[in-house]
Amino acid sequence: MSKLVEIDTSGRVATRKRLAVLLGDRRGAIVMLALASTISGLAESGILVLLAQIASTAAKGGSQTRGNIGLIHIHASANTLFAIAFALTIGRVVLQAPLSILPARIAASVQARLRRELFGSFIKASWEMQSSEREGHLQDTMTSQVLQATGGALQATQLVIAGFSFVVLMGTALTVNVAAALVILVAAVVLFGLLRPMNALGARRAKELSKAQLNFAAGINEASRLAEETRVFGVADAQFGRVDRLVGAAEALFYRTQVIGRLSPSLYQSAIYLILVGGLAVLYSQGSAHFAALGAVVLLIIRAGTYGQQVQGAYQGLRQSLPFIERLQDAARRYEASSAVDGPLELPRIGSIAFEGVSFAYKADRPVLQEISFAVEAGEAIGVVGPSGAGKSTLIQILLQLRPPDQGRYLVNDVPVQDYRLKDWRKLVAYVPQQPRLVHASVAENIRYFRELDDEAVQRAARLARIETDILSWPDGYETIVGPRADAVSGGQQQRICLARALAAHPEMLVLDEPTSALDPHSETLIQESLFGLRHELTLFIIAHRMSTLDVCDRVMVIQDGRLVAFDTTELLQTSNDYYRSASLLAAGGSSGGAAHS
Ligand code: ADP
Repeated sequence: MSKLVEIDTSGRVATRKRLAVLLGDRRGAIVMLALASTISGLAESGILVLLAQIASTAAKGGSQTRGNIGLIHIHASANTLFAIAFALTIGRVVLQAPLSILPARIAASVQARLRRELFGSFIKASWEMQSSEREGHLQDTMTSQVLQATGGALQATQLVIAGFSFVVLMGTALTVNVAAALVILVAAVVLFGLLRPMNALGARRAKELSKAQLNFAAGINEASRLAEETRVFGVADAQFGRVDRLVGAAEALFYRTQVIGRLSPSLYQSAIYLILVGGLAVLYSQGSAHFAALGAVVLLIIRAGTYGQQVQGAYQGLRQSLPFIERLQDAARRYEASSAVDGPLELPRIGSIAFEGVSFAYKADRPVLQEISFAVEAGEAIGVVGPSGAGKSTLIQILLQLRPPDQGRYLVNDVPVQDYRLKDWRKLVAYVPQQPRLVHASVAENIRYFRELDDEAVQRAARLARIETDILSWPDGYETIVGPRADAVSGGQQQRICLARALAAHPEMLVLDEPTSALDPHSETLIQESLFGLRHELTLFIIAHRMSTLDVCDRVMVIQDGRLVAFDTTELLQTSNDYYRSASLLAAGGSSGGAAHS
């Protein structure tokens, strides 16, 4: 089970759990990052302390340093101090490699894992779930939502780097001069608190701005849609006035958010400097003996302040990405909850097929199929006809096990079909949809369709589907690239490629949703020929949109209003079923076989 589904992030420690969803498998890398940040922070502390010491020594005009900086005892020449500072600087430069590489690796692997887990859940989801997804929803989830969540992983790594550096620098400052460091720390925290209302105001303004921008976008959209009316009714000035007001509203809010966004951090920084300079002036006026230590504290705290700001920013960013992780989890859970339960039985062949009182509804109170019962022997060719919306496609989806019936039993070889292993079932069942759907790849790959089939099987299928002559006439033969936008291939040829795809793995049951208008007469004849050739070789179900297709069928089901109203040979239906008779008459009156549904 994937992390997206496995970890329950509801309840009190939701933030921590969502972080586990994001970074659960990267704990080692996070520890390495914390370690690198700590060492880098120590090196930086050392550099700053040494610089303060060197400056103090130089100010006194000496070249030898002897004394304590807080708990640190220093006795060395300025040159030695420079050499150590230089070594620490080099060390810190080297550490920048893991500090840059680790976050990038973590984010890249988190992004890839989220995408794999999500698509893994989607591909296993039921057809019911897959087909009910809003258009573009999966793409949006897999791209922009995953990007936002990956942003959260990056913020988390930034939080670790800045957090550990902050703690190390503050710790060093406290070691160097407890009193001064504490005073400055407390002042900085108080200041941070004082500025919070300003941050909150900034957040509110940003929200108002995003709304104003949405209004502006909607207004512009409408103005562009109504440009013709605006012109005809001569109201261009009024329309301009409307857009002008929207522009003005966004302008004012944009200005205010910019001011607050810039003022807040610069006020914070300036106030920190004020506190530092003021504090130092007071200590100096009292004749403090530890001026080097004070200088070091100042440097350490200025840097710690920067890291503190980064911690704040990363935390804010991380919080903002958590809802996206939650949304990814929702999607993965929905997909996985819907995945089909597999049966235990082996299915060596498909013999008899029967429905017993099968009913189905998409919405609880609107039945689409009601009490359908029939039995079909292996090798029969069955036509399915009925008016549009009668439930034919739904019946086919149940036959293919894409949807389970709400009521009744679906038996194969007298055993409930769900008891068989789905893997066996999918090998023995094939389908040709009404709309041919090709992959942008060679015609051979389209027939093979991700299955392990050799060239011989592909060519045999092409022959059976009466498409081989066409393929061989193309310059690249089986290597010709076909696909949704490949215009060299006609609709009828695409349909025959799909028929070849369906036949390639020797199915024992073939379900065909016959194309209505896409077929040219030549292709129609070839598909008819192909179906006649397959007759009694396998069990055929054909939703027939042309009465001529029914010639190949042994028996025909008539579906009306979700009920199986007749199931007989075409001869008998002529006399016993009104719908069938009128559809045949209509077809006989038309020129090309006519339609078997209204
Ligand atoms: P046919 O293939 O005979 O035209 P369908 O099986 O496609 O009929 O549709 C039968 C009924 O079920 C229609 O009323 C249709 O609107 C409804 N229907 C089909 N698919 C869905 C779906 N995915 N969700 C809700 N209703 C559906």
